[in-house]
Amino acid sequence: MRPLIAGNWKMHGMAAQLREIEAMSKTVHAARTAADVLICVPAALLSRAASIAAGRIGIGGEDCHAQASGAYTGDCSADMLKDAGATTMNAGHSDRRKYHGETDAMVAAKAEPARRAGLTTIICIGETQAQRDGGNALAVCGQQIAGSVPTDLARSGTIAIAYEPLSAIGSGHVPAPGQIIEVHRKIRECLLERAGAAGADIRILYGGSVWSDNVHDILGLADVDGVLIGGASLLA
Ligand code: PGA
Repeated sequence: MRPLIAGNWKMHGMAAQLREIEAMSKTVHAARTAADVLICVPAALLSRAASIAAGRIGIGGEDCHAQASGAYTGDCSADMLKDAGATTMNAGHSDRRKYHGETDAMVAAKAEPARRAGLTTIICIGETQAQRDGGNALAVCGQQIAGSVPTDLARSGTIAIAYEPLSAIGSGHVPAPGQIIEVHRKIRECLLERAGAAGADIRILYGGSVWSDNVHDILGLADVDGVLIGGASLLA
């Protein structure tokens, strides 16, 4: 499967940083990179980022509201992300689950309007350290897939999954390869159960402290079809 290298700027970045997108998109285009490249940016930068990237790399949103429009001050719909030039969006990132109380059901409710808008949705899941210490990591990830990924979407070819164990995000601590392989295998099983053969074609990304010095090793692991990169995606 062609890997996806996705960056997630979170709430970082000003217009001046868009020149990094310009430089990167030109490099990716010139090198005919053997991977798809995507940068998810704050909604305020989306339209300019998409125009600068000019289709050479994908530009994604970081979240959307489940409704198409309405009295939801401060929110942004999937249609608006698409209209601004996004190809993709994140749903259920652990920041959203933690600071906005997003549940699996809320994540699932965003993925369907995103599909209708023509966006691919990267659905983020991952266990807490306490859940891992309690021996529940695989069960938790399985439940998150069951709750966050609508079955028809799993069959539609418009989603990817990002496995991001919370202890790895922003910490510099990447789990042992065996842990990543074990969870990705479990996610693949869940996707095959939900979507049948189509589940084999869904990308499963790993995220959490991915940097230039470990990205190649991580991409070489079984069932790792890409990476979701936070902090390192901000470095020029
Ligand atoms: P990190 O973040 O690469 O800075 O650990 C990953 C993420 O939050 O998606």
